[in-house]
Formats: sequence, structure tokens, C-alpha cells
Amino acid sequence: MTALRDDYPEGAYSPDGVLWWEQEFHSGTRQVFGGEQKLAAWLYWNVDEGSTFTMPVLREALDSEAEHLNRRLRSLRELGWVLPSYQDDRTLGTGQYRVEAKGWWPGEGARPRTGGAVSQRIRRVVFDRDGSRCVICGVGSGEQYPGEPTSRATMTIGHRIAQALGGSDRPDNLRTECSRCNEPRREEGRRPERFDEIFTEIRRFSREDLRTLHQWVVDGQRSRSKVDEIYDRLRSLGHEEQRDAASRIQEMLLGRA
Ligand SMILES: [Zn+2]
Repeated sequence: MTALRDDYPEGAYSPDGVLWWEQEFHSGTRQVFGGEQKLAAWLYWNVDEGSTFTMPVLREALDSEAEHLNRRLRSLRELGWVLPSYQDDRTLGTGQYRVEAKGWWPGEGARPRTGGAVSQRIRRVVFDRDGSRCVICGVGSGEQYPGEPTSRATMTIGHRIAQALGGSDRPDNLRTECSRCNEPRREEGRRPERFDEIFTEIRRFSREDLRTLHQWVVDGQRSRSKVDEIYDRLRSLGHEEQRDAASRIQEMLLGRA
């Protein structure tokens, strides 16, 4: 059971000095602070991970009806919360829930957009697996598109087999795509590519490049090379270490010249 507390740390109070789940409006605005946000804030500050809570306790704490609370618990599950009920775990009683993992709550800033049925947690798993890089064109999150210094790529989740064709929302059917590849739009004023012209270039390819290209076209996505993977790992290091890496790689190059 959840032990309700009466002393909360500073973080439990909104910028208006009210406990987050008791505030009626978003700080400094007349925008109503919604039921989902109150619920997320209450759970965040009142139930530790691994602990349980019950519907009657929630109803009392948030002065809300079970029907609304159930709907909001479902929407929190799309925001990273893992909240098994007795239907998922028979060791729990009727109307009892466990906070297995906490997700987004309003103190973290704007509510993330939930893209349909794919939870934030699954999105994270897919982005991490793909190195936060578009599997179609290869651009990385926050990188520029080639030749467009003012562009910044943003990543989104795509389905290998479309949902309309029965594709699932499980990670094995999901992949990281940049917003451009996810929503292909014909760029205005751009001349359409011509098959012959592309093949003029391809004829100059080495056997190894041909093999790679063939694989990408067959798979409908690029595979990431060892170089890609190591580059992403190096990118995760600090500035100093990256500069170190650059000079050490240069030394290696000179040594092999
Ligand atoms: Zn892309």
C-alpha cells in the first residue's frame, strides 16, 4: 500500500508554489491543468517504483471518478509509465496497480507527443537500436542533410509493414526514419531523377560498392557499416575526447601511408 505523505520535497511544488497535482491552471496561464497531468504528478511524487496503489486511493487523492482515472492510466502508459494491473499480474488485487517504471510527468516540461499506439519506451528502444539514424537515408538525429547547412534532421518511427496492412507496433516491425523519408514529398522545382543517369554512375562502382547498393535496394534500407557504428560511438564522447580521437586516427593514417 501507498503511504501518503505530508512533507514533499521542493520539486513536488509547481512554480506557483502549489503541489503539482493540486494546481488548477498551468503556471502563469489560464490554461486548465488536465487530469492526466495531475495523475502523472501525483503518482510521480507519491508512489515509488516497485510500490502499488489502488483505485480508491487515487479517487480520493485526485477527487476524480474511476472511469476517468482508468482512461488516464492508459494514456500514461503511452508516456513511458509501466503500470501493471491485476489483469496483467495476478499477484495484484482487484483495483490494485503497481508502478513498475515512471514515465513523463509535467515537471519535466512539455508533454511528448505520442505517435499513435507506439509508447515512448518502445520509441526509445527502436531509436537506440538504430543509433538514432534514419535507416533509409542515413542522416543522424540533429545532423544536416547533405548540402543543406541550415537543415536539422528529426527522427520519427516508421513501420516496415504498414499498420493498414496488418503491421504491428512491436520493435521488430518498427524502424527509425527521418521526417523527410517518413513522409516523402516531391520537392518543388526539383527535376525528377532519371534511371539512365543514375546507372551511368553505378557503372563506375567497385564490386564491393555494388554489393552494398544491391543489399540496400533489396532491403529497402541501408545497413550500417563498422565505420558508421564506430563513428556514432565516438560522437557520444566529449569534445576533448573527440579531438583526441581525430589526432590519433590521423597518426594511424600517417603510420600506414
Ligand atoms: Zn531519411
